[in-house]
Amino acid sequence: MKTVGTFAEVREITSGSVGLVPTMGFLHEGHLSLIEAARDAHDSVVVSLFVNPLQFNESTDLSGYPRDIERDAALAEAAGADVLFAPDVATMYPSKPRTRVEVAGVADTMEGARRPRHFAGVATVVAKLFAGCLPDSAYFGRKDAQQLAVVRTMAADLSFPVEVRGLPIIRESDGLALSSRNIRIEQQDRPDAANLSSALFAAADAFEAGQRSLDALREITRARLEADQTVDVDYVEIAEAADASIADRLERDVFIAVAGRVGGVRLIDNVLLDPNTERADRGIRLERQSILYGGS
Ligand code: AMP
Repeated sequence: MKTVGTFAEVREITSGSVGLVPTMGFLHEGHLSLIEAARDAHDSVVVSLFVNPLQFNESTDLSGYPRDIERDAALAEAAGADVLFAPDVATMYPSKPRTRVEVAGVADTMEGARRPRHFAGVATVVAKLFAGCLPDSAYFGRKDAQQLAVVRTMAADLSFPVEVRGLPIIRESDGLALSSRNIRIEQQDRPDAANLSSALFAAADAFEAGQRSLDALREITRARLEADQTVDVDYVEIAEAADASIADRLERDVFIAVAGRVGGVRLIDNVLLDPNTERADRGIRLERQSILYGGS
């Protein structure tokens, strides 16, 4: 695997069909599942590692974002990457960004409503990655379900010939969705963090048992979180998977999304409900502790 810092080098090294996995680094099994899927489907696999200042709302979140490029390079290579594209900020944004990609509507609910300009930052950097790396497919996690809808919409609206693939959420054995930010959770708060997923799974169980009222499913999630009293809940919403609009009926895939703080760390999670198969997708649980906590 080669580590490079410019788009020209990425295009020079890659050949045949190209799979791209955009990340902000501090890799975990969620990222690795995307890299492995890309490896299975493409001749060249590019992993990008860029902590994108444009998508951060709080400067302390940006400055405190975990970084370890040597660790990431070893993990990306072991998972099958051919190229690690790790540009610096001046290469990605040689001048103050003038052009921004706004995805109206899709970016306005849930995370978009709480984090002004966040999704414009995401859509802009992903558009740059598509234009610069020329991938055939790009791999994203359903952990960030609204981001996936934003990226899919952006790629379609701007006619990028890129297939955007969404893959299942990878979870710790207690259900907590993996996130690079999880290492910021204090040890004494760590058990409480699993309450986010427990609340979602309670609603997923009810859905699979036949509950079809969106109000009832939202209430099950909220009531469970309130009973636990360990998550400072920001929102519980049910949204259309396709465009992240708030759902008012259950005809197509929807996701129940929660956001909240546990011991000061903001976490998001979701489960996908498919009314056609009548199944809920809870993602995949690791059997052992993730590499974020020193497991392997
Ligand atoms: P990030 O580095 O957090 O920006 O994430 C890079 C990509 O990995 C995004 O497409 C995320 O949705 C995906 N990802 C993050 N956490 C998980 C997870 N627990 N399971 C699956 N994909 C994930």
